[in-house]
Amino acid sequence: MAMPAEAPTNSTIVADYRTRTPASAALFEQARTLFPSGITHDTRYLDPWPLYVERGQGSRKWCADGHEYVDYFGGHGALLLGHGHPAVVEAVRRQVATGTHLGASHELEVRWAELVTRLVPCAEKVRFTSSGTEASHMVLRLARAFTGKLKIVRFIGHFHGWHDQVVAGSVSHYEGGVPVGVLPSIVDLSIVMPTDDVAPTVQLLEERDDIAAVILEPSGASWGQVPLPPGFIQALREATARRGVLLIFDEVITGFRWSPGGAQGALGITPDLCILAKIVAGGLPGGAVAGRRDIMDLLDFAATRAGKREKVGHQGTYNANPLSAAAAVAALEIVATSDACARANATTARLRDAMQQVLVEEGAPWGVYGEASSFHIFPNPGGLKIDPATFDPRKHGFKVLKGNRDGALIGKIRMALMNEGVDIMPSPGGLVSSVHDGTDVDHTAEGLRRAVRALKAEREVRGAV
Ligand code: PMP
Repeated sequence: MAMPAEAPTNSTIVADYRTRTPASAALFEQARTLFPSGITHDTRYLDPWPLYVERGQGSRKWCADGHEYVDYFGGHGALLLGHGHPAVVEAVRRQVATGTHLGASHELEVRWAELVTRLVPCAEKVRFTSSGTEASHMVLRLARAFTGKLKIVRFIGHFHGWHDQVVAGSVSHYEGGVPVGVLPSIVDLSIVMPTDDVAPTVQLLEERDDIAAVILEPSGASWGQVPLPPGFIQALREATARRGVLLIFDEVITGFRWSPGGAQGALGITPDLCILAKIVAGGLPGGAVAGRRDIMDLLDFAATRAGKREKVGHQGTYNANPLSAAAAVAALEIVATSDACARANATTARLRDAMQQVLVEEGAPWGVYGEASSFHIFPNPGGLKIDPATFDPRKHGFKVLKGNRDGALIGKIRMALMNEGVDIMPSPGGLVSSVHDGTDVDHTAEGLRRAVRALKAEREVRGAV
């Protein structure tokens, strides 16, 4: 079997990963001649090669070499109900035979929108898109059209997709500057603010008259990797309302996860608009913009004609695609009528506790934290003094928690866990489903224990307790 040229390694972790995954290596050998870096999403990058996964079921997935993993990628967060939920599979199976694209309005899109507007507090009206990135693009257009203002306030490290308006300061260029290929004039239309204190943003909103909207991940950057201080969102809600600026929640991850009504449901704070993706489409491609009727009506032919306003355009071949709509209706009906969210949250609370216990027992100066059905691992790349029993991410700012990312260390952590049958996201952290259970928790905790020991042996557990 042809293997990619091997960089010399003195790491047992990497050597074990290579030995365990020859089928992934063989696929990657071909993939890297076809895709830049051999991958189709930057998050899937892993040196020496990414895991090729063949199949998922429930909380588990299996790689091309047949190894089983507890899955915390969860379809990049789309799979609140786990892989292959029978109701979702059946709905998609039925729809694929009926029509994958009807080039027309259809009943399932109506049922889908009815569920979204029933569950999501701000959602008086909704439009479907093909992805979260598209929804993010459209929501900013709507905000500018509604307010007649140009500037958007964003927050450092908050991710809203990969389109030109939202890249600077979200995954790079934290100190300013223009990411390559992006229009400088577009970067200038964002004001990227810090999140350690809401006061500078409130002051900005008071002082300026050119701001259309404030957009944020209500969890804090990267689904809570950098939590927001208490009262931050409430202060934004009050300041934006006072100043006629729109408040937009990016609920692409938190939607239907933080609670059936998303973070806005959990917080009891209602934004003017929100964007949704991932769970909203039941694990198939899709996204949505939802919010106040008077704003959404800028997309409405009759309302804009009556109001003598110019209509905001919205096309998209796969908007409300029947397959996505079928999966979405099946999934959201379960979210609406069962304790799926609460179950995932409860399992994740146990998981975080079990992982923290392992760190304490192993004397590892890392942290485990997170909200709802998410967990984050702080792998202490800077070698700080950290007590895992009392680690509080709020005592560390953006720079420490996200800005100081060590990709090589995280790659090794991921491989050490994969060698133990656990696949996490490279934040590092994970998103948990309603079908993960106590067995998964125990397996993960023991996998983490062995991974930490392997990493310690390679001097990758830095800092002191
Ligand atoms: N916003 C947030 C908070 C996200 O996490 C993501 C995707 N990870 C997006 C927007 C973009 O969504 P998509 O990948 O569907 O374009």
